[in-house]
Amino acid sequence: MAVENSRGVWLFPNGGSCSRQDCRPQRPLRLVLLGAPGVGKGTQAELISEEFSSCQLSTGDVFRAAKGIPADKVSPAMKDALEAMKQGLLVSDEMVVALVEERAGCLQCGYGFMLDGFPRTVDQAEALDGILDELDLGIDAVLSYTLDRDSIVGRLSGRRSCSKCKKSYHLQFSPPKVEGVCDECGGELIQREDDKPESIRKRLEVYEASTRPLEEYYSAKGLLVEISAEGAPKTVFERTRDILHSILKNRQAG
Ligand code: AMP
Repeated sequence: MAVENSRGVWLFPNGGSCSRQDCRPQRPLRLVLLGAPGVGKGTQAELISEEFSSCQLSTGDVFRAAKGIPADKVSPAMKDALEAMKQGLLVSDEMVVALVEERAGCLQCGYGFMLDGFPRTVDQAEALDGILDELDLGIDAVLSYTLDRDSIVGRLSGRRSCSKCKKSYHLQFSPPKVEGVCDECGGELIQREDDKPESIRKRLEVYEASTRPLEEYYSAKGLLVEISAEGAPKTVFERTRDILHSILKNRQAG
């Protein structure tokens, strides 16, 4: 059974807490999630976490959490990162890699991990290989979600998330019970600044130029598993679940 984790240490490594520190499950899954913005990676990550317990480690969430920090406490590097994010551009490799290194404890978690939004460039992927080598850890699979461009734009523009607990919704596909209010915690639902039309266009361009080459990178390592992101989140999760169970089964057999 999954154990809840607020991801406090991932978001704030110097002050957050993790409810899972003492637990050591037997079969942690270590995954990278790939896919253009809007394919529904975040939703799949939540569903995978519920069933397989691996913690969702999203670099985008770290930047969004940093937006809540008072301006005088935000480092100049983080200010630059937040500006890049607002424009739909990538934050520098150096900054993102440093941020992941600082959170290496989360990569060692006995529950495994799902990296969501990292790596996003080949340089970041190489840096991740180095970090994992040092920790003597490997990746079980890179799940690459695929979807056509029109569907991606439709999904991004209807996307909302809870300003408090981060639960995600979609105005058309998974609306909240009460408009604008989170079903789970009553928090206000907001649209991400980078889900506005101009940012969406930019983010898709950036994805094609910088992140698409990762498919080849991981395919060459025999880690890439393509999953169609078409259909309802539940349907996509059924595909994902089958794949993850077969990875666990092969591991047991091997
Ligand atoms: P996401 O929630 O993953 O779509 O990330 C939101 C934004 O955060 C991106 O558009 C980038 O500006 C920034 N970001 C998140 N992860 C990375 C990364 N691995 N490399 C560079 N920028 C990132």
